[in-house]
Amino acid sequence: MHWPGTAIEHLSGFQPSFCPRRGCPEHVRPAPGFRFERHGFYSTRRRRRIPRFRCLACRRSFSRQSFAVSYYSKRPELLVPIAAGLVGGSAHRQIARTLGCAPSTVTRNAARLGRHAILLLATARREIEGRVDEPLVLDHFETFEFTQDYPFGVATLVGSQSWYVYDLDPAPHGRSGHITESQLRRVRARPPRRGHGGYVGSTRRVLQRVQDLTSRDGTIRIIGDGHAAYDQALRDPSLRRPLRLERYPNPPRGPKGSPRSEAARRRDERLFPVDLLHKILRHSLAHQRRETIAFGRRLNALMERFFLAALWRNFVKRRSERAARSGTPAMRLGLARERWPWSRVFSRRLFPARTPTPPTWARLYRRLWTSPLYPNNSRHELKLAF
Ligand SMILES: [Zn+2]
Repeated sequence: MHWPGTAIEHLSGFQPSFCPRRGCPEHVRPAPGFRFERHGFYSTRRRRRIPRFRCLACRRSFSRQSFAVSYYSKRPELLVPIAAGLVGGSAHRQIARTLGCAPSTVTRNAARLGRHAILLLATARREIEGRVDEPLVLDHFETFEFTQDYPFGVATLVGSQSWYVYDLDPAPHGRSGHITESQLRRVRARPPRRGHGGYVGSTRRVLQRVQDLTSRDGTIRIIGDGHAAYDQALRDPSLRRPLRLERYPNPPRGPKGSPRSEAARRRDERLFPVDLLHKILRHSLAHQRRETIAFGRRLNALMERFFLAALWRNFVKRRSERAARSGTPAMRLGLARERWPWSRVFSRRLFPARTPTPPTWARLYRRLWTSPLYPNNSRHELKLAF
């Protein structure tokens, strides 16, 4: 995958290859040949002589900063430490105290980083379309938005050999497990939430997308636990290609410390890549720790942070940190030649109109996945900083 190592802010001879303005016919130009003229410079306290340009199609001007992930940002130096802090187990206020900025700056940047992660993972996805030939491990990661009365799972699809995180898709569902009379009354009093098909819906969406990912010939192998929703999703008539689900239901286990049965051992072995990912998410994201006060308030914002964590898992974090030379999951797939530092992840801004993105991901990008508890769910609908 072609992805530059040098941040665009440090590029001296930068030349735009398309117009950054949404709605301009030159915005989606795929080939070279974009016509522009130079339009002077501007300076800020942090950076001098940032070149400006003018698009000859729409006659509007823009600068080199329009192509940077730090567009419009007054504190561009915060992007990398905020990303590192979010996957390093810190909550927003803790990051803000360490970096000396307002907590709202961290929250806003977390959303921006999440959006960038969605588009960069979508770009990587295009690159490996039709080339994936490893079995894929599927499981739902359990969490909740705002209150445990609003639980949701996140379908996570991981490569059994590469450990690459291929897909994420939310599955809101009702409360399960033991519930007291007063809890039940409270749940019933809460505004209803759109389920988007729950487990079955999210599994179906993931399986539909899998078909473009895997190599054209042969059956797609999915490894999962015994969840009934997976079987139900598999019966969907819109699935064009043969899929084989290998089931490893969780067998009853004795008290802690007792030896595992043969079935339990086999299940743990086959689902290891996805179990490992879930452990990493629980360990590394402040909002996914048990009993935390940093719990996520809104599904859409939580998903943005899951996408950032997936990007980190795929391109930045080694498969195994004990084996220094183990490389990243993206290296296993041939998407990257080396481990990417965060600065490389943010070397270019991606534009949604230029990046083909799966529908669920595009909805999350625009923050259209709303939570019923809030009177106004802010959407992402800025005109220029989109
Ligand atoms: Zn233009």
